[in-house]
Amino acid sequence: MNVPEIFASLVFNDSVMREKLPAEVYRQLRDTIENGGDLDRGTANSIAAAMKDWALEKGATHYTHWFQPMTGITAEKHDSFISPQPDGSVIMEFSGKELIKGEPDASSFPSGGLRGTFEARGYTAWDPTSYAFIKDDSLCIPTVFCSYSGQVLDKKTPLLRSIELIDKQALRIVRLFGDKETKHVNVTVGPEQEYFLVDRKAYDRRRDLVITGRTLFGAKPPKGQEMEDHYFGAIRPRVMEFMEDLNVELWKLGVYAKTEHNEAAPAQHELAPVFAECNIATDQNQLTMEVMKKVAERHGLACLLHEKPFAGVNGSGKHDNWSLKTDTGRNIFKPGLEPEKNREFLLFLCAVIKAVDENQDLLRISVSTAGNDHRLGANEAPPAIISMFLGEDLTGILNDIASGNGAHHNDGQKTKIGVDVITDFWKDKSDRNRTSPFAFTGNKFEFRMPGSQLSIAGPNIIINTIVADVLSGFADRLEAAADFDSELTALMRETINEHHRIIFNGNNYTEEWREEAHKRGLLDLPSAVDALPLFTSAKNIALFTRHNIFTEAELRSRREILLDNYCKVLQIEATTTLDMAKKDILPAALAYSGELAETAGAKERLGLDVKDSAEMKLLRRIDALSRELDRRTGVLEERLSCAKAVAGTLETARYIRGEVDPAMHMVRETADELETVVSAKYWPYPTYCELLFSV
Ligand code: ADP
Ligand code: MG
Repeated sequence: MNVPEIFASLVFNDSVMREKLPAEVYRQLRDTIENGGDLDRGTANSIAAAMKDWALEKGATHYTHWFQPMTGITAEKHDSFISPQPDGSVIMEFSGKELIKGEPDASSFPSGGLRGTFEARGYTAWDPTSYAFIKDDSLCIPTVFCSYSGQVLDKKTPLLRSIELIDKQALRIVRLFGDKETKHVNVTVGPEQEYFLVDRKAYDRRRDLVITGRTLFGAKPPKGQEMEDHYFGAIRPRVMEFMEDLNVELWKLGVYAKTEHNEAAPAQHELAPVFAECNIATDQNQLTMEVMKKVAERHGLACLLHEKPFAGVNGSGKHDNWSLKTDTGRNIFKPGLEPEKNREFLLFLCAVIKAVDENQDLLRISVSTAGNDHRLGANEAPPAIISMFLGEDLTGILNDIASGNGAHHNDGQKTKIGVDVITDFWKDKSDRNRTSPFAFTGNKFEFRMPGSQLSIAGPNIIINTIVADVLSGFADRLEAAADFDSELTALMRETINEHHRIIFNGNNYTEEWREEAHKRGLLDLPSAVDALPLFTSAKNIALFTRHNIFTEAELRSRREILLDNYCKVLQIEATTTLDMAKKDILPAALAYSGELAETAGAKERLGLDVKDSAEMKLLRRIDALSRELDRRTGVLEERLSCAKAVAGTLETARYIRGEVDPAMHMVRETADELETVVSAKYWPYPTYCELLFSV
């Protein structure tokens, strides 16, 4: 296979544009991509025509505006290129107007009250900074999505705004350090994607997996991940075939799929791409998740992207690796040979420290979903408390700045190691600390809290905005300083002194850290329901409106959508729990009881003493558990109907978390116990063992 040849073969990327577009059209498009602004109709028509010809050559028959509504997955509406002619024939057409603007009926996408049902129209508008691509014979055009009156209904628009914002503010800072060449500071992102693979036939027989993405029942298998034999273990042939196929599909779409390995839990794996510009990385991660599912099906597998498909083994996350890079190719967070003398790096580092400390709530909110609640704080993923890992050496340098004895700390040994060595050095250390929510890993930050299903748009909107906000304050102060050097030193010292509480290099999984974090006054928001209401605090409304990322109405709508989603997810889970317990699990227990009773009766008729027989003991146990299951499903049913009567989304979410969720656990507990005693012949579902070790 010729990888360079297939790579990006389905992408209308820069080299294709250069080849296919007239020189002047290409120049204008590049200018729009780099500096924004509108394209005139003629240019748009010319681009559309070239795109269409290219797409037809690749076998496409349709086009679609591809967008990212608040559902968290991508949406598309396909139109064919055909245009009927007077003589009854068709020609293939695609105009600049169709490229630039679409009008999907948007009434069924969540808007959190922004768009009344009477105004169902939504608009999609071409985002030229992310390349068009071909998927399933359709030309997909990345677009933003907004309402008739211009209110934002998607995840891409605020992301693009936040990218622009941090570009502008970071540029002010690099200028202050004498960089005159850089025109743009770009955000780079590399999302590591974890997932499970299970056998498709087993998957299809689990209603809970099919409907909710996770198992709502399942007794612990005799073997889980305690042997630690899966992590980085040899990849089984069937999985290997899947991964190879997946790589090819992703390469064709221009995704730099690079690393693949087994993860901690059985049947768990990870895929990491080479990092890309933030907007593109976000689009490509959405695409990656979609392609993973599709390729899995082709291999008789199901790809599970839920944050916690199985109780008792690790869930799946998505580490968001984040950094800043100038368009001249310089990584801002590369500390260099002598980090203690790299004041630009140190200032940017201070900005991130301040941003994280001041906005713990927002980082927590950005990863708050019903599914992720199963992971955070469960000793497999970072806790719900935000802190930063910097490593001892960098922390030492910062402490020296704060205490004013700059040169003292460096003992020669540390300052003389080479750039790459020092990068690796930190990387190694950080790898040993996999417990930190927000870790500096040598030349980038790794935000480890996002769940595996999450669109990384949300977390990156937050990181970009909060860091840009601090950079803007820093720039204001330094630009106005009479003496830059002394102002810089004072600013760094102040920042470190004020915010060093957010730095923690130890083990985040321990109870001691939780206590210590409380002493330090760090926020501890255990669940999504605790975190999400803070989205619309006065501080956050001020922050987002100050930088035009969200209007207050947009922010309120997002909070509403997220809370509503939490409620819906749990209501669907509770309904599925009831359905499975009542229609499959209890009947299985009763059927088995019937067989036991019959056996006991037959034995008794033959004159045997059955009082202490195995079947009577089992029968009594199953009878007791069945009664309990019946009682517990009753409680869940009752609470679920109460939840529907609660007014207000936040109140409903609180009720569900406090009452429905525990009731669901209780049903599961009894059902799982039944699983251990009911004959396999009667048990209606594939077991954990079959699911986890099926491939
Ligand atoms: P680990 O599993 O140890 O965290 P990996 O090598 O699996 O490390 O993943 C690291 C991820 O970080 C990759 O996706 C990589 O592309 C990304 N990355 C590396 N450098 C940068 C950077 N400067 N900006 C953003 N992401 C980066
Ligand atoms: Mg990682």
